[in-house]
Amino acid sequence: GVIEGIGPRYCPSIEDKIHKFASKNSHHVFIEPEGLNTYEYYPNGISTSLPYDVQVNFIHSIKGLENVHIIRPGYAIEYDYYDPTHLKDNLESKEFDNLFLAGQVNGTTGYEEAAAQGLMAGINAVLKIRDEEPFLLRRDQAYLGVMVNDLITKGVNEPYRMFTSRAEYRLSLREDNADERLTEIGYKLGVVSEERWKFFQEKRERLARETERLKSIWVNPGVLDKFSLEEVVGAELSKESQLYVMLKRPEVDYQKLKLLKTKDGESLLPPPYLSDEDAETLTTKVKYSGYEDKQKAEVQKNLEKIETVIPEDFDYDSAKGLSFEITQKLKKIKPRTLGEALNISGVTPAAISILLVYLKRYRGKKE
Ligand SMILES: Cc1cc2nc3c(=O)[nH]c(=O)nc-3n(C[C@H](O)[C@H](O)[C@H](O)COP(=O)(O)OP(=O)(O)OC[C@H]3O[C@@H](n4cnc5c(N)ncnc54)[C@H](O)[C@@H]3O)c2cc1C
Repeated sequence: GVIEGIGPRYCPSIEDKIHKFASKNSHHVFIEPEGLNTYEYYPNGISTSLPYDVQVNFIHSIKGLENVHIIRPGYAIEYDYYDPTHLKDNLESKEFDNLFLAGQVNGTTGYEEAAAQGLMAGINAVLKIRDEEPFLLRRDQAYLGVMVNDLITKGVNEPYRMFTSRAEYRLSLREDNADERLTEIGYKLGVVSEERWKFFQEKRERLARETERLKSIWVNPGVLDKFSLEEVVGAELSKESQLYVMLKRPEVDYQKLKLLKTKDGESLLPPPYLSDEDAETLTTKVKYSGYEDKQKAEVQKNLEKIETVIPEDFDYDSAKGLSFEITQKLKKIKPRTLGEALNISGVTPAAISILLVYLKRYRGKKE
């Protein structure tokens, strides 16, 4: 009852769980050895800050642990944090030049959240020393882009966790295309080894070649072996189609395409074939391609708007038509671009359109 901060929702203590999951009548506790040669065990799943005598009683109430001895009682901690709206998009503090912050000090919780920010802040610190352009990722490029953008524009009121649902472009942010999205950027920054770069390029070429091959082979229902077609598509094919297009069908995958034969028994897609892993990557990419194209067009349309830079000395009060609340928020957070402004909670697309007009006017005046 003494703790005032909002705890991490995703690692609740046992006293929290008893409230939140009151309907459950059992709970797993994983007994983890602390090392190979130790008699210490960590009871995972019952983190607690209950008084010591209560801890002793409840641990002894667990079957098999009746006689255990507590070496270090559980305790709770409250974190302080640096308001991430005071960070620039390269994770440098707005107040203190050359101070880059990453990890839970920025209001996040989690291993990956901390590691990803560390990578970004570290790279950006080096780029700043070298007097080079910052390393930034857009929301449609990486979850890291979504996280940093959320942090610096929206701030946090509870420990921030990176969820897929936070990314509006999650259709394109898949693990099977992470290399395609980020390896080249990493290579240019010098954080991807030559070996890995070569491996990636070869993979990219293999997939591009096979994609071209699938586009160049047409399936004519008239010349196909009926049984192989049924095996692959499970239905009749009404008109001529590229193998590439056939692959978009939900019931078809790359392995099945290999089974297609002509009436003379000739394979429509002869070897050499992709490895299973490459085949999976290619199949996913082709199946998603229609949706991705739609999304790309949408991103492109919004990009011009989103990447418009708001000069630091821009006077928000001059933009008539913005609500008092929005003006206050923009003055406080000072977004670098219209895209960042749009991600501030409460800032509407209509407000962005107004800002765009005033930014054009501002630029006109300056010129
Ligand atoms: C009990 C518990 C369970 C968790 N379980 C999970 C989980 O299952 N999955 C998950 O994703 N996340 C989990 N988390 C959250 C996760 O551990 C943290 O969010 C993450 O490790 C934070 O990393 P960080 O590098 O930002 O901070 P830290 O790992 O806290 O690193 C900060 C470092 O700075 C050092 N330091 C502090 N002050 C100074 C100073 N003045 N000078 C020099 N060094 C200093 C500290 O000693 C520390 O090493 C858990 C956290 C706790 C407490």
